[in-house]
Amino acid sequence: MDKKVVVVTGGSRGIGKAISLTLAKKGYIVAFLYQGNATKAEETLEEVRGYSPLSSSFKCNVSDEEDVKSVRKEIEQKYGKDIFALVNNAGITRDALIPMMRSEDWKNVLDVNLSGTFYMIREFSRIFLKNKEGRIVNISSVSGVLGNPGQANYSASKAGIIGLTKTVAREFAKKGITANCVAPGFVETDMTKDLDRSAIENIIPLQRLAKPEDIADAVLFLIEAPYITGIVLPVDGGLAI
Ligand code: NAP
Repeated sequence: MDKKVVVVTGGSRGIGKAISLTLAKKGYIVAFLYQGNATKAEETLEEVRGYSPLSSSFKCNVSDEEDVKSVRKEIEQKYGKDIFALVNNAGITRDALIPMMRSEDWKNVLDVNLSGTFYMIREFSRIFLKNKEGRIVNISSVSGVLGNPGQANYSASKAGIIGLTKTVAREFAKKGITANCVAPGFVETDMTKDLDRSAIENIIPLQRLAKPEDIADAVLFLIEAPYITGIVLPVDGGLAI
């Protein structure tokens, strides 16, 4: 196989869909994961295959380590060891102020966002280690950098992703593997559809929400950057200045 395979979690909707399409347009084969919305995944796969016909979708809950092990085997069966990059994008929010935050919502967000990212890295790094080459890009958030009232669970998970990424970068650097984070601000997706848009635009120096493609371009840049590792790249319209 002469084309490179990139695995993208949460690749069926929102930012993950834009990442899948951007990479497909660049000639990568995309293997994207989704959790449950099969109809949306099929629609996205059809679009992605329009640019990269060998791409596929896989159902996998990243917070379930057995599911992650099985999907790694399935992807390896389909594409062999020619897997070049992993983009950990799947994420959820369960917002509440701390006194009202249910333990279940604390745990679910940490399980999907942080443990899911760790399980994926643990499984796919075996392939990168054998190949002596690999790129890992993790989607953090401005919320993990600055903190955000109502998002204790989410901010902690996204800050955790930054610490995890820096350790992965240090642990694997001598093996030819890079690991970096993208930290988006507010992005136009299902996750932000209920927020007060004009209030948000007022606090963003560039005065607009990001489009999913703005984040996808940063992910592509890091996948194609052999000499950058351990960084957190803000793509937030200046929100975290
Ligand atoms: P989204 O529109 O809600 O899409 C979430 C994607 O993740 C879907 O493909 C969903 O699959 C998948 N997913 C959810 N839980 C999963 C699980 N347990 N296992 C596997 N896949 C799962 O989200 P988004 O706004 O594009 O956000 C993508 C990433 O960017 C997240 O990590 C988010 O925290 C981060 N981010 C977003 C913003 C923003 O403003 N939107 C800002 C900063 C950071 P199904 O469709 O099958 O459920």
